[in-house]
Amino acid sequence: MIYRNYGQTGKKVSLLGFGGMRFAHVDDHDECVRMVIKAAEGGINYFDTAPGYFETKSETVYGLAFKELDRLKLPYYTATKTFKTKEDDIRREVEGQLTRLKKDSIDFYHIWCVTTLDNWTARKKDGILDAFRKLKEEGLIKHICVSSHLIGGEIETLLMEGVFEGVLFGYSAYNYRTREKAFNAIRQKHLGAVVMNPLGGGIIPQNPALFKFIMREGESAVSAGLRFLWDHQDISVTLVGFGGEDEVAAALEAMNGYVPRSGAELEAVKSRGAGFEGICTGCTYCDDCPQGIPIPRYMDSYNQKLLKQNGDVELQQRLTMHWSINAAGAGECVECGACEAACTQHIPIIERLKYIAAMR
Ligand code: SF4
Ligand code: SF4
Repeated sequence: MIYRNYGQTGKKVSLLGFGGMRFAHVDDHDECVRMVIKAAEGGINYFDTAPGYFETKSETVYGLAFKELDRLKLPYYTATKTFKTKEDDIRREVEGQLTRLKKDSIDFYHIWCVTTLDNWTARKKDGILDAFRKLKEEGLIKHICVSSHLIGGEIETLLMEGVFEGVLFGYSAYNYRTREKAFNAIRQKHLGAVVMNPLGGGIIPQNPALFKFIMREGESAVSAGLRFLWDHQDISVTLVGFGGEDEVAAALEAMNGYVPRSGAELEAVKSRGAGFEGICTGCTYCDDCPQGIPIPRYMDSYNQKLLKQNGDVELQQRLTMHWSINAAGAGECVECGACEAACTQHIPIIERLKYIAAMR
C-alpha cells in the first residue's frame, strides 16, 4: 500500500480508500465487516461513508467493523458527511453518527455535496462554518472538509476560500479535464484530495475500447482506471465503492502490481485521451450560456445515456440526483448557437437539449 499526506493534517492516508456506498448486501453485517477487515489487512486506512448511504446503514456497519479493527489493532481513519446547514441540526446529526460509528470523534467531516456556488453561499449564511468550527474545537470532528460536484473553475473558487483542510470530488480518466483546475487550489492551499467515482460510474470498465489510452499491456480497465489516478501526485486517496470481498481483493491486487508512471508519462497519457467522439468531456468551454443553462451538466447526463446505453429514466436520475437540475430547464435554450461554436467535441448541444427538454 502507498500512503500519502492528507494535506497539512499530519495524517498519512492510504492511496486506495474504502467507499461505503455500494455494499452489495448491507444487511449482511458479517459480510460487510469481513470486507472492511480484509481492506484494513491489505493496508487501507481511509473509510468513507455518509448518512444517506443506505439510509444510515453504511455508517452502522462501519461502526460494527471499527470495533473489530480496534480489537485487531488495525489502524483506520473515519470520514463522513452532513447535508445539514444549521448548527442544531448538524450537532444532532454528528451525535447520531458518532453513535452509529461507535467513535468519540470523526476524523474527516465533510460539508456534503456542494452543487453550485450559490448553494455554498446559502449554506454559509445558515452558519455552517461556525457550526463546524465549534464541533472541531470540542473535538467531535478533527478536520473540516468539503465534498463537491462543482466543475471547472468553480471547484477552484470554492477551495481558494481557504476554509477547508481537504476536499472530496469526482475525478477519473473519463472526466479529468473538467476537474483538473481543482488541483491548482489543492496545491496552493495544501489540501488533502480524495477522489470518488474513479471508474466514471462504471463507464470505464463498460467501454474499454474508449479508454485504451490509459491501459498498459495486460492491464484490465479497472486496474488501469485506478492506476491512472494513483499516478496523480496531488491525490491523497482514491475511493472505491466496494460491493463485495472479491472487489476489495481486486483493488488490492491492482495496488500490489502497480508500477507508477513519471509525471511526464502521465501527461502524455492524458494528452492521448482527446478522442471521446460525441462524448462531452466536461471541458466547460461552452459554459457561458446567455440563458444561464448549465450546459456541461446536461451534456454529462446525456453521456450516461450514450455510454451506458441507459434509457431516459437513468438520464433523468443523473440530472436530478447528481446535478440537482431538471429536464425542463433544457427547454430554456433559444438556439443562439454560442455553445456549439465553443464546443471542443463538436457536440450537437442544441439537439441534445431539445431531447432532454422533451423527455417525460
Ligand atoms: S444555443 Fe442554447 S444552450 Fe447554447 S448558448 Fe445558446 S441559448 Fe445557451
Ligand atoms: S458540451 Fe462540449 S464544450 Fe461543453 S463541456 Fe462538453 S465537450 Fe466541453
